[in-house]
Amino acid sequence: MKLRKVSAAAAAALVLSITATACGGGDGDNEGSGGGDKIKIGIKFDQPGLGLKEPDGSFSGFDVDVATYVAKELGYNADQIEWVETKSADRENALARGDVKFIAATYSITDERKQKVDFAGPYLLAHQDLLVKADSDITEATDLNGKNLCSVTGSTSAQNVKKDFAPKANLKQVGGYSECIAGLQSGAVDALTTDDSILAGFAAQEQYKGKFKLAGLKLSNENYGIGVKKGDTETVNKINAALEKMVQDKAWDKAVTDNFGPANYKNEPAPKIGNVVS
Ligand code: GLU
Repeated sequence: MKLRKVSAAAAAALVLSITATACGGGDGDNEGSGGGDKIKIGIKFDQPGLGLKEPDGSFSGFDVDVATYVAKELGYNADQIEWVETKSADRENALARGDVKFIAATYSITDERKQKVDFAGPYLLAHQDLLVKADSDITEATDLNGKNLCSVTGSTSAQNVKKDFAPKANLKQVGGYSECIAGLQSGAVDALTTDDSILAGFAAQEQYKGKFKLAGLKLSNENYGIGVKKGDTETVNKINAALEKMVQDKAWDKAVTDNFGPANYKNEPAPKIGNVVS
């Protein structure tokens, strides 16, 4: 074949087909996926039991299982998902920029956030709590005043502490909860505060067994929603239908047992779609 004689149109078609193959991961079998080749989903990467990037590069957690189920209902198989880390402070911007199609990352539905993003759900009700050393005498939120407290920038947990629970605590805000754990272990931090679901996951990690305890306080209601770009009502509606189906066919219960069982986390029952507990 004389390459020079290939027409411009044929060359363009060749380029197009190469591009399509590259995007499709080379299997060329994306028919019926209904939504293109890949879907980008925002999760946490450092929260055991919720959203965790494992050492082997795989992903685990309740949010991962919920997102995988939702993606399937939107027409994407698990191997078409690209997981993107969306830290607490980055979530609204990631959606506004279109970095991800949706976010399932322990993302509480709040009025403030609803100004910037839309939410499907809720799909879990958690509560803010404290994680302290096993021998700590911190039992109440008021014990935190004057103490070193760690939480995450852009979270409701940090905001609630400043506003309500312990305005005189010495609050250190970091990028992710895993960063607080090191401080708690070394003693640089007296307590870590966020949702009980997240804290239970950390406390159950093999290397921390017996070292930490949850205070068992229900300091707030955290209604986990799936964040989508503001105005994308079609996706919100599809995700709500998927979440309803997940509860009905018991896949929700299985995800709870698989992910919260090892942490012995006593979760609330599945919320009804649209029922945000204040
Ligand atoms: N659910 C709370 C929030 O959305 C705390 C957990 C988190 O930072 O993801 O802010």
